Amino acid sequence: MRYSKTLIPTVKEVPADAEIPSHQLMIRAGLMRKLASGTYIYLPAGQRMLAKVMQIVREEMNRTGAQEIIMPVVQPLELWQQTGRDIDYGQTLGTFVDRHGRGNVLSPTAEEGFTYLAAGEIKSYKQLPMNLYQINTKYRDEFRPRFGVLRSREFIMKDAYSFHTSEECLHKTYMDMYHAYCRVFERCGLEYVIVLAESGEMGGTGSHQFTVPCASGEDIIVYTADNRQAWNIEKAPVDPLPKQPPVPVGPVEDFYTPKAGRIDDACAYMKVKPHQLIKTLIYKSPEGVILALVRGDHEVNTEKLTRLMDGAHIEMADEAAIVELTGAAVGFAGPVGLCGKAAKVFIDYGVAAMAVGATGANKTDYHIMNVVPGRDFPLEGAHIRVADIRNAVEGDTFEGKKLLFKRGIEVGQVFKLGDKYTRKLDVKYVDADGKEKYPLMGCYGIGINRIIASAIEIGHDKDGMILPITIAPWEVIVTPAGQEEEVTAAAEGIYQQLLEAGVEVLLDDRDIRAGVKFKDADLLGIPIRITIGKKTLAEGRVECKRRCDSDCTTLPLDTAAAEVAQIVSRMKDKLNAVKN
Ligand code: ATP
Ligand code: MG
Repeated sequence: MRYSKTLIPTVKEVPADAEIPSHQLMIRAGLMRKLASGTYIYLPAGQRMLAKVMQIVREEMNRTGAQEIIMPVVQPLELWQQTGRDIDYGQTLGTFVDRHGRGNVLSPTAEEGFTYLAAGEIKSYKQLPMNLYQINTKYRDEFRPRFGVLRSREFIMKDAYSFHTSEECLHKTYMDMYHAYCRVFERCGLEYVIVLAESGEMGGTGSHQFTVPCASGEDIIVYTADNRQAWNIEKAPVDPLPKQPPVPVGPVEDFYTPKAGRIDDACAYMKVKPHQLIKTLIYKSPEGVILALVRGDHEVNTEKLTRLMDGAHIEMADEAAIVELTGAAVGFAGPVGLCGKAAKVFIDYGVAAMAVGATGANKTDYHIMNVVPGRDFPLEGAHIRVADIRNAVEGDTFEGKKLLFKRGIEVGQVFKLGDKYTRKLDVKYVDADGKEKYPLMGCYGIGINRIIASAIEIGHDKDGMILPITIAPWEVIVTPAGQEEEVTAAAEGIYQQLLEAGVEVLLDDRDIRAGVKFKDADLLGIPIRITIGKKTLAEGRVECKRRCDSDCTTLPLDTAAAEVAQIVSRMKDKLNAVKN
């Protein structure tokens, strides 16, 4: 392609709303432009990168035997009501009512659609296993779209759904997809870690996440110091804390803490540290109100709570419900006298280990001190459970091993779903024994746009992107550094030879200063630049520079295209030759 005929509107200024390098560079390098909050227009260079990532994903999906289809983005709300996920997704679900008054969903994922398809098509065990996928637009009305395409409202996802007669069969496809994901990320040149994950809104029995470690990631990866186990923060287990030795404690005492509904304020009044406070969180669940008690310096992990509730949907109680239950304003709840009023009480190991603590008094503007777990509120009982319900923190261990933390970007996730969706949408097949059964399902998602953003997060310098050759918008850029006739002719010649050799090449034929061309080439992260200048050309040579190296070499004009074509193919082979 010729630069002069291609819309690559690079800009010097860093966009004001772009906080992280990938967002800044995707705008600055002219890969995309913002249309509205969380939606982006991909320009030619960005579109080429998307197409390349999609092609890699497609090849690896096809290699596993998955079949590509395409689902409508707009789907009937009714299907989502049948699985109850209209509620689980809440306001993240984009919906609209059509002219006939029917509710529609802008697909944020497509378990419902694929299961609906299966209900009509899968009749016999002989058709199973079946694995179908699409690469399609998804919409999520994210509360706060941010970081460019890392968390946008509209994005492209590859989503696959598999159907099975048995756990073994599901496990086999799950592992095939797991390995296909490894190949996808390796071919895209990403360093990644695989962590055990919760299945969240998807429901189901097992899940892994593929995460690219980097400082701007929103996910927290927790791993053991020996590097043998890794989880995302939602899933990471922690050892119970050792029981604190008993101390002499007086009777429970009221403490006036006006307007101190927040932990820090309450601690300041009572002159205690957050770890000496017991925080009481109140949730709504189908079984009624549930209480979750954690130390003031810990955070409740709702995924762990949900698991203890056997997957039931829970959400924070609203102000009215809290006031009704506690008889106090929000911020003054405490377990003393309250445990009996809840359907279930989950007490974190950390709270159960406390010798004494302070907590809310269930009275506006009051806390209580000298609270002894087990003495002043129960640690046992039919509806009471001491368990691991919090996020791991610095200093925690699991099975005695120190837990370490790093940030990462989730680029893909695989789930074993079991029969959650096939049961709800009544998909049945006739098994070999003549009996009707619900197929088991797996589902597998990859964020196409996030792959690009992650590659930029881990591949850039002050001058721009440094892209893996497999996903760069062009493999080579030919830069004539001057307007002399012989320079233009040599550049044109190399450009044509590279095109013939099947190399994806951009010819920077713009009538501008060489320095500006070099800056744009660096910004765009094109892996190899061939520069044709008058001086070197007089010696019958051209310059060749890799974006990731600081030095450049020269090559004979006659053989430069052939040599560069070989370098390109070696660089691609290195990334594409992935193990199975
Ligand atoms: P997150 O926890 O980051 O919100 P998720 O776990 O909800 O993501 P999945 O439902 O697992 O996402 O979707 C599969 C993939 O789609 C994710 O691994 C991610 O790469 C991509 N994805 C999800 N939400 C977004 C988004 N808002 N913008 C861009 N990509 C996204
Ligand atoms: Mg996910």
